[in-house]
Amino acid sequence: MELVNNNYYAGNVKLLDVAEEFGTPVYVYDANKIVEKYNKLKQAFKPANVKLKYACKALNNTNILKLLKNEGAGLDTVSINEVHLGLRAGFSPDEIIFTPNCVGFDEIKQAVALGVHINIDNISILEQFGAEYGNKVPCCIRLNPHIMAGGNAKISTGHIDSKFGVSIYQLRHVLRVVKSHNINVNGLHMHTGSDILDAGVFLQGAEILFDAAKDFPDLTFIDFGSGFKVAYKEGDITTDIEELGAAITERCLKFTKEYGRELELWFEPGKYIVSESGYFLVKTNVIKQTTATVFIGVDSGLNHLIRPMLYDSYHTIMNISNPEGKQRVYTVVGNICETDTFGWDRKITETKEGDILCFKNAGAYGITMASNYNARFRPAEVLIYNDKAHLIRKRETLDDLVKNEIDVL
Ligand SMILES: *Cc1c(COP(=O)(O)O)cnc(C)c1O
Repeated sequence: MELVNNNYYAGNVKLLDVAEEFGTPVYVYDANKIVEKYNKLKQAFKPANVKLKYACKALNNTNILKLLKNEGAGLDTVSINEVHLGLRAGFSPDEIIFTPNCVGFDEIKQAVALGVHINIDNISILEQFGAEYGNKVPCCIRLNPHIMAGGNAKISTGHIDSKFGVSIYQLRHVLRVVKSHNINVNGLHMHTGSDILDAGVFLQGAEILFDAAKDFPDLTFIDFGSGFKVAYKEGDITTDIEELGAAITERCLKFTKEYGRELELWFEPGKYIVSESGYFLVKTNVIKQTTATVFIGVDSGLNHLIRPMLYDSYHTIMNISNPEGKQRVYTVVGNICETDTFGWDRKITETKEGDILCFKNAGAYGITMASNYNARFRPAEVLIYNDKAHLIRKRETLDDLVKNEIDVL
């Protein structure tokens, strides 16, 4: 996002024009930014045989999936429907990994039938998998190394109370099941949660996985999940991708020698690839002065962008209708009948009713977590691609809200 002649642009598209043409609220994604981030990550791990499986729960519009597929990405999916979305977008089954949590064995069987990689995250399912497929279908096992990472407890998955993965302390039990059913384990996986700050934490987890790998002779890949931290506000510490890449690739190449066979190194980045590409544009409905603060009430709410309320996440908010006005202090809230505060005490340039506000870092976990709460439509989506703004998801209509209802009265 750049300020040129008192106007904000994403690429060479003026963001105010997007709001004007497609209405608000609207999610806007800059395709160039997505491609840039993907390639930056790929480059950082280049010395290793690295495969990036984009975690599509972050943003799953088919156009975005195709964009990343064209760059050579694979896909990380967490539900059978995400697998279907990936296949529809043109990914081949072996480019997709299915990493669900607490799904029934039925759903695993459907994924096996579709031919995607299977990642198993509990011993009960591993036993059922072994009984059903023996060594005929390979699988990956998700281990939980219990490495604490992540700023917010709700997005940390490595802690002892976490429901994710098979505890590393259960490794002997895992090996018993694998041996009894002669299961072909082709990958080991960990995903310690979002927001890992330094290479040290990653490497700690990696050592635990490498140690476990010695017990699995048929591996073809090791999957380190994700957790690359993204800067949400100025001064935020982020994962140093180059440093992390150098450290991990070096250690992996060394491990590959010990293991005796070349292993692919997989990652499943979501947020890192799409967060910064996204802008969420909303309109100021009311300026409401109370005894304590000045509220900006916008035409959106926790039904469209829930991260600030759910994870205390921070999104920079700017008034793009008045880029160079004088700054004042506002609290930005939504129009939903819940306390849906996007940001307290934000310095935003002087705002009038009708002005368009822009939330930055809105590419990841924005639209995919949106709902119809308060019977409001989910936002439209626009992709800036080849220097042009394209509508990639229509705004909903009243018919969409009732289409699955059945009249009985
Ligand atoms: C959500 C998720 C990811 C992506 O996490 P980000 O923080 O968005 O990069 C990767 N792998 C698995 C298994 C996930 O559940």
